[in-house]
Amino acid sequence: MTDQKYAYVGKSPVAGNGLFAEKDIPAGELILSISRPLVGALDVSRLADTCANCFIWTAGPSIITGTYVDEGVSVKKCSGCQQLRYCSKKCQRQSWKRYHKDECDLIDNMDGKQLPKVVRATIQILSTQAKGLINDNIWSPFLRLESHINEMRASGDQWADIQLMAQGAHNFSGARYAFDLQFATEVFARVLTNCMTLVTPTLDPLGICLDPIAACANHSCDPNAFVVMDGPGLSFRSLKPIKKDEEIFISYVDVTNPHARRQYELKHRWFFSCRCSKCRKGPTLQEDLFNFTPDELDQRWRETADHLLKVTKFADDPSNWVGAGPEARRISVLQGVAFDEYEEAQALSDPKAAADKLQHGMLLCHQTKLWPVYRQPYAAMRHDFLVNTVSTGNLPLAFAQGARTYFTIDPILYPETHHPVRVVHNWTLAMLTLYISSEQDNVIVKSMLEIGINTGIIAYGLLYEVASNVDKSHGNSSSFAKAVHRKMDEVIVDMTRGNSGALRGMMDKIKEEWPVFEQLGKWLEY
Ligand SMILES: [Zn+2]
Ligand SMILES: [Zn+2]
Ligand SMILES: [Zn+2]
Repeated sequence: MTDQKYAYVGKSPVAGNGLFAEKDIPAGELILSISRPLVGALDVSRLADTCANCFIWTAGPSIITGTYVDEGVSVKKCSGCQQLRYCSKKCQRQSWKRYHKDECDLIDNMDGKQLPKVVRATIQILSTQAKGLINDNIWSPFLRLESHINEMRASGDQWADIQLMAQGAHNFSGARYAFDLQFATEVFARVLTNCMTLVTPTLDPLGICLDPIAACANHSCDPNAFVVMDGPGLSFRSLKPIKKDEEIFISYVDVTNPHARRQYELKHRWFFSCRCSKCRKGPTLQEDLFNFTPDELDQRWRETADHLLKVTKFADDPSNWVGAGPEARRISVLQGVAFDEYEEAQALSDPKAAADKLQHGMLLCHQTKLWPVYRQPYAAMRHDFLVNTVSTGNLPLAFAQGARTYFTIDPILYPETHHPVRVVHNWTLAMLTLYISSEQDNVIVKSMLEIGINTGIIAYGLLYEVASNVDKSHGNSSSFAKAVHRKMDEVIVDMTRGNSGALRGMMDKIKEEWPVFEQLGKWLEY
């Protein structure tokens, strides 16, 4: 359901349909808001702690990022299938009426086995449509979405899996008499092609969602807009100023990744070669550059790379492509190992194990001397390392890593101060710093104070920065912006209690403190 929009669907010179601005839109403003996408399906690992109807996530990875959820919100199991959970009776009723009535028995009979999320999303769509519950102004645009079914059919192995899953969705849906298998397969392919990652306001992945209007937005590696989500709501917001009738682009992949990796991901999943302004310049931009050319790799790392070339296939993976010739292949294999460590760490649920793996990957980037600090996956590993290090309790180390990201990485990767990734990183760091500053009896906090690191002032400065940008990144009525402003008010009340002049000259104090804070990140070896 579209709530507010300053965008229209039109023919795109890039591909098929696209979204276009209805008026001039300055940076940091709402373009389009959708109160509920057509369909949303949670990751299996999120079923236990997230409402299956409004997608409120009741457990964060740490005390830090979970704070936008009101205290006391919890989810209860559906008494039928014992698998889906809801935050309220209202959510349970809505979900039951739309599709869960058909799905509940089925899930219950699966002996704890879980259906993949794309299958569940397809079942939801088929069941809901069979009951006539999808409005025609949603259903018609859905049917017009690109399915890429011919490319999928031509892809060999992948096609066999797709057919099997589409067949499952058709059989399991309460709609197998309403729609034939071919139609179900097309719906499945359309979900696969057009779904977005369902995320929390702090960008933690929860599952997938699909909305036919949102799905019209095309991709660019240099986008002028981004998507943020808030429970079941989804909004497009402007990253840069957009002129009336200009096409609105978002990114389907992480655009801080190197050219070859972006191209591979886009080709593999969406079957197109990106020809955006960045991609047309080839692998020549900051995302691609290493500190030196392949022939300058030192002897020790040449030997390591030659060994890795024998025992792994990373250098043959097109997403790791660096260049032709034996020297470039050495860099490809090292890059492959780094991305592999990063991806493997993401799959680990134990924070200690994940932090160890990330540390290993970061050391590789550091010791080969190849990586600038902002080049991927070095930069992404550092943020995940911070989050996992918080969970294992090493707060000072997490704090120093955060300082490094704040000063030397994020301003380069996300030059707009209201970029949602930058705002969320700063929020995480602000909450961590606030927590550290509240532990006044802690030996480390005391010793930091002795060398002039005033965590109270740093926390205030960071929070002030988040509060100044969050209305642009998330919108002032979003639950995240409200949580940020509430926290800011709380901190002000705390700081001025018994000393009404405590905030006087605060901006000057922050200015003095900032070089000390920056130094903290520089002390790290890697
Ligand atoms: Zn709910
Ligand atoms: Zn159920
Ligand atoms: Zn591109």
